[in-house]
Amino acid sequence: MQRIKKIKDFEKIAAGEVVERPASVVKELVENSIDAGAKNIKIIIKNAGKSLIQVIDDGYGIEKEDVEIAFDRYTSGKIEKFEDLDTLTTLGFRGEALSSIAVVSQVELITRTKNDDLGSTIVIHGRTVIEKKEISAPVGTNIKVKNLFYNIPARQKFLKTNRVELGHITDIITRYVLGYPQIHFIYQHNDLDILNCPSSDDLKDMVFHIYGKETAKKMYPIDYIHPDGLFALSGLLGDPEISKKKRTSSSLFLNKRYVISDKFFEVIKDAYKGFLMVGRFPFFILNLDINPANVDFNIHPQKMTVRFNNEKVLFPFIENELRRHLE
Ligand code: ADP
Ligand code: MG
Repeated sequence: MQRIKKIKDFEKIAAGEVVERPASVVKELVENSIDAGAKNIKIIIKNAGKSLIQVIDDGYGIEKEDVEIAFDRYTSGKIEKFEDLDTLTTLGFRGEALSSIAVVSQVELITRTKNDDLGSTIVIHGRTVIEKKEISAPVGTNIKVKNLFYNIPARQKFLKTNRVELGHITDIITRYVLGYPQIHFIYQHNDLDILNCPSSDDLKDMVFHIYGKETAKKMYPIDYIHPDGLFALSGLLGDPEISKKKRTSSSLFLNKRYVISDKFFEVIKDAYKGFLMVGRFPFFILNLDINPANVDFNIHPQKMTVRFNNEKVLFPFIENELRRHLE
């Protein structure tokens, strides 16, 4: 007979759902900065995120009294109860990211809100608070995540080469640059600038920074609002000439959240039918806005997969609209 006991390292095990690799940390921290209304987000990476991931924003910051609570499991300033998901406007809502990150790394956070004269700093190593005090700081949040998985050697061993891990980080940052052109993103690795994309009203400027001039020239804007408010579509549709070998080259956002949706990719591909060669995928950057009550992001801790509840009605409309634009 086996006896049932509480698992000693359950926190480390649970953290694995959110923090798979350095890029997952980057994603969570950047999402928090966006949710905080930041206009400037700077991402500093060392050693492909294995030794340092730092995100500095000029968002609204965290109140002194909340700084430690923010690192508890299931604590969030964004929702209070399950029903709030029906009106969700933020990227975060599970209240797990900071706690999961803190379990598997060494975190230093400095933050100040505009209501406070002094900011706060907290240092946490593997969930243990090492230091907490007041400090002078600009409004916003500056978080350093050091030595990811320092306390889980097995996980550290599973990390890929710097080239691969950095590729994942660059990929996720690129998506957010495309999703939020009104935010100025700076991204550095080992003291070298990788991206510096000043804010702009024109998404094409971001495409220019990331994919170059030729691609930017071959993308056409779409901006459509369904008359009954069922959905809105905005972004850029690529000329069939710049089709891609991989479907994930394109970026899809749902209510400004970067998502991967097989079904939705199919809808877009169907809209391009007859325009593309076999085996090629359309290139696009699209944001679909729909009522949050009609979509469920809460099916995976990383919130990148999504389920629609009215796709039978929604998808044909979207396909039609895209088709009309392409023609
Ligand atoms: P979630 O984003 O799901 O609410 P997190 O664990 O990512 O949970 O963050 C916990 C809380 O800490 C957030 O709800 C928010 O109130 C606060 N927070 C985290 N990062 C920032 C930031 N960069 N600026 C302001 N507040 C932040
Ligand atoms: Mg979050």
